[in-house]
Amino acid sequence: MNEKTKNCPFCNEEILSKAEKCKHCNEWLTEDISDDEDSSWIGRIIHSITYFAIAISLFYFGGWKVVLGELLFSVNDAIYTKNVLLLKFNDKYYGFVRTAEFFDSSIIQWLMLGLAVAMFWAMIEKLLFDS
Ligand SMILES: [Zn+2]
Repeated sequence: MNEKTKNCPFCNEEILSKAEKCKHCNEWLTEDISDDEDSSWIGRIIHSITYFAIAISLFYFGGWKVVLGELLFSVNDAIYTKNVLLLKFNDKYYGFVRTAEFFDSSIIQWLMLGLAVAMFWAMIEKLLFDS
């Protein structure tokens, strides 16, 4: 038996150096906390990009076209009709237009829109508020 050992930082009993939990005091030995902190901003960006990609995919496959400042219609303040969900800002429109390319069911489309918005929010939350 010559496995490497160390002392538990909590109770100072001898434990295996690879132990993740002290067998004496049951404390979790979270050695890699500092590594996580060092790479947390990278992790957050990767998570955010992943969430953003999922959100865009949900918009697209859910039959919604994302509108970012495109002037599509000559309506005055199209906020919501059967097929659009837009906000007018400085003569440009921002929001979503239903395209129904993959799913014809409007319920599925609204569900996908909700999921996409939730995913988009998760991205923002991950980017800004995750510690
Ligand atoms: Zn211990």
